[in-house]
Amino acid sequence: MMQTRTLIRSALMAALVAGAGLALAPVETAQAAAPMVKTSAPGYYRVMLGDFEVTALSDGTVDLPVDQLLMNTTPAAVDKALAASFEKSPLETSVNAYLINTGDKLVLIDTGAGTLFGPTLGKLLDSLRASGYQPEQVDEIVITHMHPDHVGGLIKDGEIAFPNAVVRADKRDADFWLSKANLDKAAEADKGFFQGAMASLNPYVEAHRFQPFEGATEIVPGIRAVSTPGHTPGHTSYLVESNGKKLMIWGDLVHVQAVQFAQPSVTIHFDSTPAKAEAERKAEFARAAKQGYLVADAHIAFPGLGHVRSKGAAYEWVPVNYTNIR
Ligand SMILES: [Zn+2]
Repeated sequence: MMQTRTLIRSALMAALVAGAGLALAPVETAQAAAPMVKTSAPGYYRVMLGDFEVTALSDGTVDLPVDQLLMNTTPAAVDKALAASFEKSPLETSVNAYLINTGDKLVLIDTGAGTLFGPTLGKLLDSLRASGYQPEQVDEIVITHMHPDHVGGLIKDGEIAFPNAVVRADKRDADFWLSKANLDKAAEADKGFFQGAMASLNPYVEAHRFQPFEGATEIVPGIRAVSTPGHTPGHTSYLVESNGKKLMIWGDLVHVQAVQFAQPSVTIHFDSTPAKAEAERKAEFARAAKQGYLVADAHIAFPGLGHVRSKGAAYEWVPVNYTNIR
């Protein structure tokens, strides 16, 4: 009886191995020869906020020489803060956007870089589709500010990427970045910022689908613009509220988590008015720590969602717990 079972087992094994085409190849060789894939899935991360569904969408990551870009500090101090978080410069930096389904409206906050910031970004549409939505379904796009890594994704292959959406942003950013006069007088190194904003926004302007707003404004019920100028003239955060729950979508109040929570006075080279950007960051850190609401940031490691905690005179970032059940 034992012998029969052993024979059957041997025959089964032989059939399986032959069937898998591995009869002549040692298993270890086949495993070692599998090429490494080295890419991640299109990125999305979903949480509920009251009755609203919030989806963080990854546009990808980009390496930034943050030891050179951060101001009000020194490269050595930046390197030290990064090392304390097991990171170093150039820092692989996330670019995040956020999709809010209120039940009535599908609202996208920022659009990633499109083709304006190199090949490691521009993945927003892939992430959107992977998350179960199509660009045609987006009703409103609200922009935190008109830097290329936030507006480049408005355009795909030279065309409007979101055919049914109205685009909204603060008028002060529109007046600044879409001005031909400002482009003409900008330093050569800065012209790309203006050109990127114009290439991304002007097709929507021409199609009468760009609607600037001025300061604190309700975008749709449950989503309000909150002015946080300084990084750019019309930089705007968005407060999302449903059923007693709050999410503040910061935009670019923080660029380097490992540095700026401990040292909120550290600014970045791209700030239009560094002193104002610093003041807005400090005020918002204090509010977020006191009220304990959920926060989203375009450049904190994906999904960029978490809470702010006071730590002495400074702050700490507490990333959200992982959830995959709703
Ligand atoms: Zn940015």
